[in-house]
Amino acid sequence: MGLKSKQQRLEQLKSDLWYQNFRGVTTMSGCFNKCGNGARGGRECADCVEKELAELVGADLAKLYHYDIVRIRDTESAMDAAIES
Ligand SMILES: [Zn+2]
Repeated sequence: MGLKSKQQRLEQLKSDLWYQNFRGVTTMSGCFNKCGNGARGGRECADCVEKELAELVGADLAKLYHYDIVRIRDTESAMDAAIES
């Protein structure tokens, strides 16, 4: 895989991971890979996307990125709760 296609793949996987770590109401179904997890929009679940990201950038960075997204989503939920109270 050339650098340009790797960059495109990286952008796609990052976007997919944000997409799977949604907030609010969404349509869930089984992961496209039939791994047993739920996934948004009939696509790959966050764990499967992380695995593919790991093949591209290494397990440590993929795990860190996934973890950071989850943290940001948690912070966003906390901010929503803060303005509701
Ligand atoms: Zn999956």
